[in-house]
Amino acid sequence: MQTIAHWLDGKPFAGTSPATAPVTNPATGVVTGQLALAGVEDARAVIASAKTAFPEWRDTSLARRTQILFRFRELLNERKEELAKLITAEHGKVHSDALGEVNRGLEVVEFACGVPHLIKGGFTENASTKVDIFSIRQPLGPVAVISPFNFPAMVPMWFFPIAIAAGNTVVLKPSEKDPSSSLWLAELWHEAGLPAGVFNVLQGDKVAVDELLDNPHIKAVSFVGSTPVAKYVYQRGTAGGKRVQALGGAKNHMVVLPDADLDLAADAAVNAGFGSAGERCMAISVVLAVGAVGDELVAKIAERAKTIKTGDGTRDTDMGPLVTREHRDRVASYIDAGESAGASVVLDGRGVEADGAADGFWLGPTILDHVGTEMSVYTDEIFGPVLSVVRVDGYDEALALVNDNPYGNGTAIFTNDGGAARRFHNEVEVGMVGINVPIPVPMAYYSFGGWKNSLFGDSHAHGIEGVHFFTRGKAVTTRWLDPSHGGLELGFPQNK
Ligand code: NAD
Repeated sequence: MQTIAHWLDGKPFAGTSPATAPVTNPATGVVTGQLALAGVEDARAVIASAKTAFPEWRDTSLARRTQILFRFRELLNERKEELAKLITAEHGKVHSDALGEVNRGLEVVEFACGVPHLIKGGFTENASTKVDIFSIRQPLGPVAVISPFNFPAMVPMWFFPIAIAAGNTVVLKPSEKDPSSSLWLAELWHEAGLPAGVFNVLQGDKVAVDELLDNPHIKAVSFVGSTPVAKYVYQRGTAGGKRVQALGGAKNHMVVLPDADLDLAADAAVNAGFGSAGERCMAISVVLAVGAVGDELVAKIAERAKTIKTGDGTRDTDMGPLVTREHRDRVASYIDAGESAGASVVLDGRGVEADGAADGFWLGPTILDHVGTEMSVYTDEIFGPVLSVVRVDGYDEALALVNDNPYGNGTAIFTNDGGAARRFHNEVEVGMVGINVPIPVPMAYYSFGGWKNSLFGDSHAHGIEGVHFFTRGKAVTTRWLDPSHGGLELGFPQNK
């Protein structure tokens, strides 16, 4: 059985804490590794490595930094199949989906390759007589990235390529459930020529997270995970004076207006509801069927969802297992609760016959119709392959439900009416909106982030907001003295 360690000073580090956690293949239920869980001393050692590496890295030329980034990009592109296999083995998502995740991360690396342009400042000549002003953006120092289980490669890559490109050093704290991708990425950075200590991995749980939040050498924290932990991370990190962006959970609604193309809407609902077994923060978990479309739409969704092959992601399947047995049982309990509360179970994944080992954490696609907004299946983030359909009378009722929801990560509207679509994107209180697009994940050069309980902090991930998050601005006012500047003047400086 392999031991999964930390990464410090450009090499694996076993740590000194005896604590470990098992890592499991969700498609077989077999424990495949033992993860080292950091104690406080281990966390401090990893942070110290990032601190030591910072001064030299921040002063490394942009030309050299971008060469390393381009090399990292090339290696990742060449070897992405390897990373996708690692993701499937610990997360469970099917191979094509794992590859998709790597590709979306790769796009952020490509964006970060343009860092010289992204952090370029401005220059004003003769702001006052013979006085010039210029602005620069400088890195913050060692920064922490704390990531969730559901995108073990892409979510860390929303942050660390930009952080490193901008001259920061990084400590990545991956999820305990699928930690191996982080070490694979660390080795790739090493191969790309990144100096030791610029990218580090700290394996662990709350002990590691708390040290990252409290340690004064860590200057900023990018967190992604569930809402209660995001809120905690934001409060504790900012209380210590750190810059924090903490992306939380979601409950994404898809509104289907009566004029929509119902075949396209049904395809979209199935893809966005059941892709990655619903373990995506941008998954659609609620369809709001407006007016008379309900029966026909539900029939079309069910007809498609029935064809989904649930099974081992290394085989020819469409949807993998859930990440742990506990999570599988928790999601199944929401289906039980919805059924008891009066929702109709149109498709039941609880007894699915999966193409995989008997001990895999299987739950098939499930559709609940006539879901009430008081039911737990509607109010809670479930994070599984359960699509709820809520029937509403009109656009206004649909909009009110989306806007009343405490989460505001993603939403979509399906319609052929441009005016209705425009009104929706103007009125909806959600950070990422799709118009006939069910998973509106912005490209790397835009920023990713939700509103309300889906994000604590001011900055969204990647794009220009990501660049600003990992740098701080400085304005420099200069005057090269000549004899005409002599004399005392105690008044407040004024432009002449
Ligand atoms: P999680 O909150 O359980 O864990 C996220 C990270 O926090 C992990 O690294 C974990 O080790 C750490 N952590 C967990 N409990 C902690 C605690 N009490 N104190 C300190 N640290 C703690 O989330 P998860 O189950 O790994 O991921 C799924 C969640 O992430 C879902 O809620 C999903 O919506 C959310 N998510 C959000 C986005 C987004 O962009 N908004 C993206 C992906 C996932």
